[in-house]
Amino acid sequence: MNEELNKQLNRELYSAYLYLGMSAYFDSIGLKGFANWFKVQAKEELEHAMKIYNYILDRGGRITLHPVEAVPTEYPSPRAAVLRGLEAEREQTQNINRLYELAREEGDRATEVFLHWFIEEQVEEEKIFSELLQLVDMAGDKPQALLVIDARLAQRRE
Ligand code: MG
Repeated sequence: MNEELNKQLNRELYSAYLYLGMSAYFDSIGLKGFANWFKVQAKEELEHAMKIYNYILDRGGRITLHPVEAVPTEYPSPRAAVLRGLEAEREQTQNINRLYELAREEGDRATEVFLHWFIEEQVEEEKIFSELLQLVDMAGDKPQALLVIDARLAQRRE
């Protein structure tokens, strides 16, 4: 379980990195609101990583910091970036579910309860990315529509 939690810690750090890469991409194409939104999202992923980090220590486990894989800072389109985000969250949900199954198999009640928060969080993460993708699809090739979304995303603070 300790090793699997360390792997999840790494995957949360990877998510933070992935969204920071998307933030850089949106910044480079002048969509500052999207850039802001993804920067806040990256911070949130860092918080997920720290939750797991602290939990490993609280349980007297050992921390292993695996290398964080490189991520793109360029995408073919805003839609491609948002779609990748949605896919990444779906993968993350599967990872959390597998971790939960393992905790149950091992009779590790504390980890089971610890993971409840993450299971709920993944519902929210998939929802916000699905909604964002829906908006981006609605905007299509119309820059004006994309700018309306951008102005909305500029307001995200946490
Ligand atoms: Mg996360």
